[in-house]
Amino acid sequence: MNTPSSSSEDQNDQFKKYCQQINSVRHLQAFENNSSIDPNTTRVMVKGEGLYLWDCDGNRFLDGVSGMWCAAVGYGRDELVNAAAQQMKQLSYSGLYFNSVHPAVADLSNKLFELFPPSFGRILYTNSGSEANESLIRVVRHYWDLFGKSEKKIFISRENSYHGSSVGSASLGGIRVMHGMGDLPIPNIHHICEPYWYAYQGPLSEQEFGIHAAQELEKKILELGADKVAAFVAEPFQGAGGMIFPPMTYWPEIQRICRKYDVLICADEIVGGFGRAGEWFSHQYFGFEPDTMSIAKGLTSGYIPMGALVISKKIADVLYEKGGVFPHGFTYQGHPVAAAVALANLKLLDEGGIVNSVKNDTGPYFQKLLREVFGDHPLVGEIQGVGHVAALQLVHSKAEKRRFDYGGAVSGFCANCARDEGLIVRSSGCGRIILAPALVATRSEIDELIEKLKIAFEWVYPKIEAAKAAGL
Ligand code: PMP
Repeated sequence: MNTPSSSSEDQNDQFKKYCQQINSVRHLQAFENNSSIDPNTTRVMVKGEGLYLWDCDGNRFLDGVSGMWCAAVGYGRDELVNAAAQQMKQLSYSGLYFNSVHPAVADLSNKLFELFPPSFGRILYTNSGSEANESLIRVVRHYWDLFGKSEKKIFISRENSYHGSSVGSASLGGIRVMHGMGDLPIPNIHHICEPYWYAYQGPLSEQEFGIHAAQELEKKILELGADKVAAFVAEPFQGAGGMIFPPMTYWPEIQRICRKYDVLICADEIVGGFGRAGEWFSHQYFGFEPDTMSIAKGLTSGYIPMGALVISKKIADVLYEKGGVFPHGFTYQGHPVAAAVALANLKLLDEGGIVNSVKNDTGPYFQKLLREVFGDHPLVGEIQGVGHVAALQLVHSKAEKRRFDYGGAVSGFCANCARDEGLIVRSSGCGRIILAPALVATRSEIDELIEKLKIAFEWVYPKIEAAKAAGL
């Protein structure tokens, strides 16, 4: 006969197998080779609190990447839970349609425009980052049409950038493997090189490389014709591509070029927005002024889907004065529950002093500790980052600044070992370990994160050296 504890273990086992089985036969897992996943290895996540996550076996993980870089205020905050519950009772749905509005979205917009730089004029709410970038394509082309420059249709973005998974946003993205699905990119989207100094530096210093990479944009504009180029779209620092920070010379040169040729600057702030890099928006860290911003993730800390496209007064005025009917909208845009959650989240980030702490306390602490612990590690060629976001570039040879041929496999191996230590980090295809702890992470949680990563590296390093010696 089963003892009480073994029967609850059996129940848990059945529950786990049920979740794994449904997942295995009913879902298409994003960015995975679905046919090669062993369902028995699928983790069943059941709880989140603060920076920690638990799976159904009771294993606790320190989430070093805030989910998908979205859980800015950590998991399970009552302030956001209560805001959602109250709003659901009060008014569970109302659209920004038929000339109506509701207080939840009015309060949210009021708060957001306190945080946005003053050049921004209007906001178009969406349900995701992909939808924000999808809307961007239509809005920018519409703007140029109304402005009398209807030839300006081309978007230039970058290799290895990520802008979403819908038709337009994946076309803007520069991850080639995504273009293979669904005949992408759509016409009139071009990509230039990414400002990834460690990979492509050649003889250039970091600052020289920044200018060189920006001038690729000028070359492309001249090749295509300035009268045909509508906008340059980019993440201020590249998220999914590997948390790649361009040299500080890059963005000022991009801005000079865009202004010279009357090309809009569209900043994808979906990862970098809402304090991740210590400023409210990461373009402020790099010192440039975009004409549009796409936002999502940190807007609601991932408690509920919401994104938006924010447009400058310059664009907004043209759409307002000359546009007539605005032929674009989503059922759930400015959804009251999402808006209430977003506002509660922003209050915490702002009035709770969280963004301030990322800039002045925990952010500098995290960055310094990372460099102290991993700066001299033979496996780490470069550490980039600011605030609560960073990347470690794994290298085959530190002295030769040589990356691994199969970087993603090596960083994936490290990320798996970190998970065995109870730490969730992400790995990128170019061999980088990505860290993005919640903005509420305390110094002692940062210590714990770094300690766990250090242990994982101690375990991993001899194995990688042995693989190198064996010629792998
Ligand atoms: N842009 C960037 C920079 C992103 O990182 C993401 C999501 N990872 C998106 C757009 C797309 O957002 P979503 O997944 O909410 O559609």
